[in-house]
Amino acid sequence: MTDKLSTERKHFDVVINGGGMVGATLACLLAKAGRTIAVIEFAKATEFSADSPYDLRVSAISRASQKAFTEIGAWQVMHEMRASPYESMEVWDAEGNGSVRFDAAELGEPDIGHIIENQVIQKAVSDALKKLDKVTLFQPDSLDSFTVNDDSVEICLQSGGVITANLLVGADGANSSVRELAGIDIEFDDYAQSGLVTVVNTELHHQYTAWQRFQKTGPLAFLPLSDGSCSIVWTLPSDRADYFLSLSKNDFKKALAEAFDHKLGNITKVGKRAAFPLRGSQAKPYVMERIALVGDAAHTIHPLAGQGVNLGIKDVVELAKQLDGVVDVGKIKALRRYERARRGDNVITMRAMEGFRLLFGHSANSVKSIRNFGMNMFNQLPLVKNEVIRKALGL
Ligand SMILES: Cc1cc2nc3c(=O)[nH]c(=O)nc-3n(C[C@H](O)[C@H](O)[C@H](O)COP(=O)(O)OP(=O)(O)OC[C@H]3O[C@@H](n4cnc5c(N)ncnc54)[C@H](O)[C@@H]3O)c2cc1C
Repeated sequence: MTDKLSTERKHFDVVINGGGMVGATLACLLAKAGRTIAVIEFAKATEFSADSPYDLRVSAISRASQKAFTEIGAWQVMHEMRASPYESMEVWDAEGNGSVRFDAAELGEPDIGHIIENQVIQKAVSDALKKLDKVTLFQPDSLDSFTVNDDSVEICLQSGGVITANLLVGADGANSSVRELAGIDIEFDDYAQSGLVTVVNTELHHQYTAWQRFQKTGPLAFLPLSDGSCSIVWTLPSDRADYFLSLSKNDFKKALAEAFDHKLGNITKVGKRAAFPLRGSQAKPYVMERIALVGDAAHTIHPLAGQGVNLGIKDVVELAKQLDGVVDVGKIKALRRYERARRGDNVITMRAMEGFRLLFGHSANSVKSIRNFGMNMFNQLPLVKNEVIRKALGL
């Protein structure tokens, strides 16, 4: 990594605003391909040690993301820090007898994926980035403004520095300032729901299974962590999430165990609780001359299948592929190829999640019967089922 002070007013091939899980991965991929990169990140560096408490935010990392993390040298590090492979996934309907189970053994795989805390992923990709001398990190700093010129984009930093680049990438999350300053439109779908997250211990072991119970109000997921505890993502109407946040620990434990149908017995311990508003969004377009958006800056989806980070990693793998060998990486031609390759997949995934959400939110008896019948039928078709899960998990 290069020293920040000596490089102000310097020119880079690519400046990435946002050094989160997605932006840092892109920086590594592009630097490894020989590009000079600057990353601007306003949060302080993530600290992690083996006795750090479990992060409230976790991600279900697909095999495709695992491959990208391996390529940048971050996978082994996060795996050694704290990662929990899961061998099965069970999804069932709270209003009927429909259920679907996926087993790694049936797929001929050692696991279906890994549940990894966001702080662990962040630490591993940031450390990988810091080892690359083609990367300059401006942290903590923030993009203040930028001007797109014919042959470059000029970026003013909040710290007062000015840098230029052929391409500016917005990897700065759902409230992307690159997107906003570029005047790129975004379509929102407000779910009026929040994701309540916490870490709990349960009477019964999680059996290395990712459990998801679909309730009318939204899915409740128990995701296995390496010490035997579970990370909870409970989708609820926002006022219900606020209500559950306000309960005493004991009342919350009882309510959660009940909502989960005591699948893993009682809840024996509960950690800190937080809730995040959920909304779907798609930027239109993802790219302009010298500007590209990736990850949550370009799109957000419902967390019910835990695909947010995975879609962002697919974005950056594709962007790196499209820029490979291109002389001027800011030219719209290569950027449009990236958008064409990624928008369809992102929209399909978003619609599929939306479809599940509406299907399970329906309480008409006829819909419930068809839904439960469909789940059980699907569960009895191993070839179809395994093909669907292979595609979804990037196996
Ligand atoms: C409740 C919940 C559960 C979820 N569960 C899952 C899951 O199981 N699996 C999954 O794949 N996804 C999940 N997601 C989605 C996932 O968290 C996001 O898709 C993912 O964090 C997006 O990564 P990103 O790097 O694009 O954006 P972010 O994680 O938002 O990172 C953006 C980065 O940019 C920085 N930044 C922002 N603005 C600026 C600025 N102006 N200047 C400099 N830096 C800036 C931020 O500090 C941050 O580091 C979940 C989301 C929610 C809400």
